[in-house]
Amino acid sequence: MLQPADLSPVPAAEAPRDCPLCPRLVDFREECRAEYPEWWNAPVPAFGDPNAWLAIVGLAPGKHGANRTGRPFTGDFAGELLYATLLKFGLAEGKYRADPADGLRLKGAVILNAVKCLPPANKPEPAEIATCRRYFEASLMALPKVRVLLALGQIAHVAAARAVGVKPSAVKFRHGAEAQAADGRILLSSYHCSRYNQNTNRLNAEMFERVFARALELQP
Ligand code: SF4
Repeated sequence: MLQPADLSPVPAAEAPRDCPLCPRLVDFREECRAEYPEWWNAPVPAFGDPNAWLAIVGLAPGKHGANRTGRPFTGDFAGELLYATLLKFGLAEGKYRADPADGLRLKGAVILNAVKCLPPANKPEPAEIATCRRYFEASLMALPKVRVLLALGQIAHVAAARAVGVKPSAVKFRHGAEAQAADGRILLSSYHCSRYNQNTNRLNAEMFERVFARALELQP
């Protein structure tokens, strides 16, 4: 059976398929495995370019997206806008078909989640975010060319700020927030491209693209 590391640009930093560290998420994983045995139902590995300069940081796998397919943002509503934007800005090549076998490749970009396992109701608990930090931060350390982190949503914003040594209280989350870490890495933040945010017009494609345009201005 495939392990998360088999699919990852940072294999040494990935959690094992049966990572036991978050009991609530392990229970939910087992429920999903029983109900949908053909799904991925495991920690979702990073996806993208091992030489990435841009790291896109999501919250956690979506049930019918990454938790089903095994690739971040693949197969759910949020992924449609994210991958369309990556393709539009030349950060991906190929065609996005909502399937990890679609051959899509990221160029200069990588996608990570702050929490690798599916949380019930899409809401990880603070202890789960803290526990999975070891994998999230190990992934970033294994991506030494990353200079810009683009966090999608508040939880990702806080996780990414901590990972680069910026106090979360020093940079308030908002769409387009920007902060510089002591080592020069830049944290950019965006509203999450979730179905809820798009349907309520909190985020539209133009707003999302503005943040990517800013990231490209910061490309080393
Ligand atoms: S969320 Fe992270 S730390 Fe928790 S069980 Fe999954 S892989 Fe392990």
